[in-house]
Amino acid sequence: MTTLRLRADLDALAAYRPGKAPVDGQGPRFKLSSNENPYPPLPSVLARVAELAGQVNRYPDMAGHALTARLAGLHGVAGEQVVLGAGGVEIISQLMRATAGTGDEIVFAWRSFEAYPLLAVAAGARPVQVPLTAAAGHDFAAMRAAVGERTRLVIVCNPNNPTGTVAGHAEIEEFLGSVPPEVVVLLDEAYLQFNQAAGAPDGVELFRRYPNLVVARTFSKAYGLAGLRVGYALAPEPVAVAMRKVAVPFGVTTLAQGAALASLDAGDELAGRVDKLVAERDRLADALAWQGWDLPATQANFFWFPLGDRTGEAAAVFAKHGVLVRPFAGEGLRVCIGDDEANEALLGAAGELRK
Ligand SMILES: *Cc1c(COP(=O)(O)O)cnc(C)c1O
Repeated sequence: MTTLRLRADLDALAAYRPGKAPVDGQGPRFKLSSNENPYPPLPSVLARVAELAGQVNRYPDMAGHALTARLAGLHGVAGEQVVLGAGGVEIISQLMRATAGTGDEIVFAWRSFEAYPLLAVAAGARPVQVPLTAAAGHDFAAMRAAVGERTRLVIVCNPNNPTGTVAGHAEIEEFLGSVPPEVVVLLDEAYLQFNQAAGAPDGVELFRRYPNLVVARTFSKAYGLAGLRVGYALAPEPVAVAMRKVAVPFGVTTLAQGAALASLDAGDELAGRVDKLVAERDRLADALAWQGWDLPATQANFFWFPLGDRTGEAAAVFAKHGVLVRPFAGEGLRVCIGDDEANEALLGAAGELRK
C-alpha cells in the first residue's frame, strides 16, 4: 500500500474526544460530560434562528458587522479589537496560528482544556504544559518560569476546565505584570459568567491596561448556544488583524451571528438562568461535602473529582446511575450541572462512591 504524505508530527497526537452522547433508549440518560447548558434555547433566540434560516443560500456577513459593533459597545472597546470565531475553540486556534509556528512554544497549565495541546500541535508549535498546584489551580510562578525565548503565547484558563478553580484579579494582574510585554497572553473566560467569587477578575478591565492581553469568550456555555458555534476575542488591534488572516472564512454563520445578538438582547433572562445554575452548583457542592467529598472549590458549571486510579471504575458507577461524565484516565473525572433529575442522579452516584 502506498503511504500517503501526511504530517508526521500528527502521529503522536490523540484526536479530541468529545463528551459521550447518550445512545437512544439504552445506557446513561444524562449527558453531563460536555459542560453544556441544560436549558433549551430561549424562545426569542429560536424565533430569530428560524427567521434567518431562509437566508442560508447566502454566505454570512464575514466580518459580522452587527455582532462586532454590539460586542464593542457592550465592552467599551473599538470594533477593530473584536474578533469573531466559530466558537471559542476557533478563537483559540486563530490566536495560536497568529502567534506561533514551527518550533515556537505555547505555555499553559495542565490539566486544562484538552483542545489546547491539540490546537498547539496543529499550529506546528510545541505545547509546554505546566502542572497545576496541589489545589488544582494555576501555578503562576512555574508558568512564569516556563516562559522563555521561544514562547509565543501563554494561556490562563479562568475558571479552569476541568477543575473549576479560579485565580483572583490580583493574582492574574501580578502574573500579567511578570510576563515579558512582547509575549501575548490569552485569558480564556469560557465560564466567566459562573464565576461569582469575590475579587473575580474582570478580563475587559485588564484588557484595557495590558497591551499584550487577549480575552476569549464564548456563547456556548452560559448562553447555551454550543450547537451554533460562536465565540469572540477582545484582542489588541495588531493581534486582531493577524487573527482574522488565519480565521476560517465565513466560519461564523448567519444563524450563529443572529442567535448571539438575540442572546445579548435577552441578557437578563440568560443571567437568571446562570444564577439558577450557580445556586444549584452551590447546593450540590454542599451535598457533596456532606457526603464526605473534599473536591476543589469550583466557580464553573462543573465539578472535578480527582480520583486518580479509581477514575474508570467511578465513571462506571456514574453510568450505572444514568450519568455520562468526562473521565481522564488516571487523573479524575469532570461532571457538569444538569437539570434537577440529572443532578439527583449525580448525587446518587457520588453517594454510592463514598460508601
Ligand atoms: C467550552 C470551552 C471553550 C469554547 O468552546 P466553544 O464551544 O468552541 O465556544 C473555550 N475554552 C474552554 C476552556 C472551554 O471549556
